[in-house]
Amino acid sequence: MDQIKIGKFIAERRKSANLTQMQLAEKLNITDRAVSKWECGKTMPDSAIMLELCDVLKISVNELLSGEKINMENNNQKNEQLLLEMAKELERKNKTIWTSMWAIMTVSMIALLAGLLIAAFLIPEGIWQLVAVLGICVVFLIPCFYALKLEISVGAYKCKNCGHEIVPTYSEALWAMHRGTTRYLKCPVCEKRTWCKKVLKK
Ligand SMILES: [Zn+2]
Repeated sequence: MDQIKIGKFIAERRKSANLTQMQLAEKLNITDRAVSKWECGKTMPDSAIMLELCDVLKISVNELLSGEKINMENNNQKNEQLLLEMAKELERKNKTIWTSMWAIMTVSMIALLAGLLIAAFLIPEGIWQLVAVLGICVVFLIPCFYALKLEISVGAYKCKNCGHEIVPTYSEALWAMHRGTTRYLKCPVCEKRTWCKKVLKK
């Protein structure tokens, strides 16, 4: 989305409605500084007042986000463009979360191995070595729980039987057996338990 273009469009529509920045701000119960920031392309109108703003400017949300008047001919095309942009943005976000999940797991795995090696070689065999090993394993669980939270926050798990994309709750995912990111889940549609592959895009 082109914020500069949207800003110019807001200014243009405001002027043709014969409103000053102050008057527009008053109609929307916000400050004129906020209006000025939109028009400079520094910020986007909050989604909470977008509808009201469009109402005052006599444009559609679609037109606001495109930064131009849309006629019937290019309306569908614009709609598709916007949807595509939103999908791409979601995809980017998901990828970032996915990458950080793997980064967390990789670092914790290395730390776990290093910790276990140190415990095995530096602590003499006996009760303290056992305590150290158990302690390290318990600490290792903390990043695991966190990584699982990240893992289920993006995408879904595809049912092998019917193809339904399952979004499990945290505890469902926690108690399900897993191989990597493939989880053994019960499908709410066909009610079969299968090894469900992780799919990022919904
Ligand atoms: Zn199913």
